[in-house]
Amino acid sequence: MTRIEDLPVRADLRGLSPYGAPQIDVPILLNTNENPYPPPAELVADVAASVTAAAAGLNRYPDREAEELRAALAAYLDAGLAVAQVWAANGSNEILQQLLMAFGGAGRRALGFVPSYSMHRLIALATGTGWTGVDFDAERALAIVEEQRPDIVFLCSPNNPTGSALPRGVIEAVVEAAPGIVVVDEAYAEFSSAPSALPLLAGHPRLVVTRTMSKAFAFAGGRLGYLAADPALVDALRLVRLPYHLSALTQAAALAALRHADATLAQVAQLRADRDRVRDALRGRGFEVVDSEANFLLFGRFDDERKTWQGLLDRGVLVRDVGLPGWLRVSVGTTQECDAFLDALGEVTGQ
Ligand code: PMP
Repeated sequence: MTRIEDLPVRADLRGLSPYGAPQIDVPILLNTNENPYPPPAELVADVAASVTAAAAGLNRYPDREAEELRAALAAYLDAGLAVAQVWAANGSNEILQQLLMAFGGAGRRALGFVPSYSMHRLIALATGTGWTGVDFDAERALAIVEEQRPDIVFLCSPNNPTGSALPRGVIEAVVEAAPGIVVVDEAYAEFSSAPSALPLLAGHPRLVVTRTMSKAFAFAGGRLGYLAADPALVDALRLVRLPYHLSALTQAAALAALRHADATLAQVAQLRADRDRVRDALRGRGFEVVDSEANFLLFGRFDDERKTWQGLLDRGVLVRDVGLPGWLRVSVGTTQECDAFLDALGEVTGQ
C-alpha cells in the first residue's frame, strides 16, 4: 500500500497530522462545539424551499460576489457595516485559509497565542506561512507582538479550547501595535457577554473579525463562515479565492437560515444557562473548570485524561481530548445531554 511518505508531498507538510476531531457514532456528541438543538422546523422548511428554487438555476454559476448573502450577514452583525466590508466562504476555516493565502505565505510568519484553535497553525503551515505559538499572557501579549513583529497575529475570543474572552483593551493594544494583519476569531461570539472587536474596525484597516454560522447558528453542516474588515482587505481576498467558491445552494440555504436567526439564537440563553450549571456542578465535585464565555468548558485535572475520555465514550458520551495534558473539553449539549455527561463522568471518575 502506498503511504503519504512514498508520495512527493511538499517537504514542509511531511510529519504534520491532519485535523481530526473523531467522528464516532455515539448517542451524545459533545466534542465539536456545535449547537445541539436541531434547527427549528420553519427554518428547515425555508432551507428546503430555497434550495429547491436555487436548484432550478443550477446550470448557471452562482453570484461570485454573494452580494445578497453578504448584505444579510452585514445586517445580522448590526454594526453599521457596508456589504463591501463583509466576506463569506465555506466555513470560517476557508475564511482563515483565504486570509493566510493573501497575507501569509512563503517568507512570512503568523503568531498565535496557545492553547488556541489548532487550525490557525495548521492552515498557516498548509499555506507555507511560518508559525510561532506563544503561551498566552494578557500582560505580555503586546510586548510579544512588538518583539516578534509577525505578519499575521491570531487572537481568539472567546478562545477555543479555554472559553476565555479577551478584554477589548488587549485586542485594541495588539491591533495598535501589530505591524501586519490581526485576525480576531470570534467563532463563539454569540455565547459571550464580553464585547466584540467589531467596533474596532473603524480606523483599523488591518483588523479582521471572523465569525461562523457553525456554532450558535446551528448551521455547521451548511458550511458558512464570514468576516468583517476594511473593504480593501476584502478586495485582497478576491485575489486568492476560487471563482464561485460559494455554491448557489450554500448561498440559498444560508440566506434562509439567516431569515430565522431569531428562532435559532433563542437557544443561546439556554446553552449559556446549561454551561454555567455544568461548570458549577463540576466545581462542586472538585474539578477545575476554566471560566467560559463560549459553549464549551475546559475541565480537569486528570492524571490520565485519555482514560477518562475513553470511559465517557464507553458510556456513549464523546468529549474532546484537545491535547492538553490533564484536561478535557466538553461542549454544552441539550439539558438532558449535560445531565447524561455529568452522570457518566461520575461513574467514570467516582467524583
Ligand atoms: N474558529 C474557531 C475558534 C473554531 O473553534 C472553529 C470550529 N471548531 C472554527 C473557527 C471553524 O469553524 P467553521 O469552519 O465550521 O466555521
